[in-house]
Amino acid sequence: IIEVNHLRKSFGSLEVLKDINFNVEKGEVVTVIGSSGSGKSTMLRCINLLETPDSGEILVNGVNVMEGDINKHRSEVGMVFQSFNLFNNYTVLDNCVLGQTKVLKRSHKEAVDKAHQYLKKVGMDEFADKPSTLLSGGQKQRVAIARALCMDCVVLLFDEPTSALDPVTVGEVLDVMKQLADEGLTMVVVTHEMGFARDVSDRVVFMENGVIVEEGKPEDIFTAPKSESLQRFLGRFI
Ligand code: ATP
Ligand code: MG
Repeated sequence: IIEVNHLRKSFGSLEVLKDINFNVEKGEVVTVIGSSGSGKSTMLRCINLLETPDSGEILVNGVNVMEGDINKHRSEVGMVFQSFNLFNNYTVLDNCVLGQTKVLKRSHKEAVDKAHQYLKKVGMDEFADKPSTLLSGGQKQRVAIARALCMDCVVLLFDEPTSALDPVTVGEVLDVMKQLADEGLTMVVVTHEMGFARDVSDRVVFMENGVIVEEGKPEDIFTAPKSESLQRFLGRFI
């Protein structure tokens, strides 16, 4: 569903992504791990065109994202950020409605129905009329997930969705993510939650210095890492 070929990205003289090749199949949950600065966020941001790649191509459902309609692309490829990025002056419901009416041109009624549907799914519908500023971090993150789902995204990218949360609420967000994974949503998750990577994902990708060093099934990655850099990285979590 996503195909990344020979992706390169530099910031000035700093080459952050060096010939990245990366595929995600429909229904697959891929976690991306790696140390700080290895290029994980930049890779996600290129897939969502929040950054413009220097070279290479990115296909979503066979369509080159550089050539298609950027708004359509951004709604198809949802993104959930560490810092939630909710619209603070709006209610929970409106956070989920706005993109649908503005970008997808849905009627207000249709957008509201869909918003309630997905807010229920993440357990946040009872907060629909609350201003988003009143929510806890974990609640905000669940609303952010519902908002992305409202756009009928075909794949959802997560950039460290639980890193800004206190330990108590991390679990509620991971539970929602696990539920979505079980329902067959295609997901790419940058995370430091090794438990999630091991137990929920179908495939783990390890990045270091702008390169995908190793990828494979969680059981292989965690029990028999081949490269020295992955062994060193995992050693930090023991
Ligand atoms: P972390 O685990 O800390 O989130 P990361 O793997 O997500 O790290 P990136 O955020 O992709 O890493 O950053 C990779 C490198 O690119 C870093 O050295 C970072 O400083 C640099 N970088 C990222 N965005 C920019 C930017 N807009 N301008 C300049 N340099 C950037
Ligand atoms: Mg990052």
